[in-house]
Amino acid sequence: MNCLFCKIIDREIPATIHYEDENFLVFDDIAPKAPVHKLIIPKKHIHNINELAEEDLPLIAKVFTIAQNVAKQFGIDQSGYRLLNNCNADAGQTVFHLHFHLLGGQKLSDTLG
Ligand code: AMP
Ligand code: ZN
Repeated sequence: MNCLFCKIIDREIPATIHYEDENFLVFDDIAPKAPVHKLIIPKKHIHNINELAEEDLPLIAKVFTIAQNVAKQFGIDQSGYRLLNNCNADAGQTVFHLHFHLLGGQKLSDTLG
């Protein structure tokens, strides 16, 4: 499968990795839109939210725990952060492996668009 994020998981493409466990990887976004911009991804290849199966939901719930920990690790848990997912074209999804942006370290724009 020709998936960029699967290649990062398999270490075929380099990334600055901050956290890894059996099911998840957290690494720097290559084009940060805020001082802290991390990507939280499941190792399981899931195209996007539309492809999330009910059986995946317990796994995906862990995203919130990881976001809590990463936000603490980078000192933005109190100042604030945004956890964001883009699904398909209108949202601007460009990598079709489910991922969550964790953004913070500055006042973020009021609009989500
Ligand atoms: P999205 O637009 O929600 O699909 O987000 C994809 C994100 O992946 C963008 O913010 C890109 O900057 C980021 N990205 C693309 N290629 C890489 C890469 N090789 N390493 C880390 N992040 C990447
Ligand atoms: Zn993938």
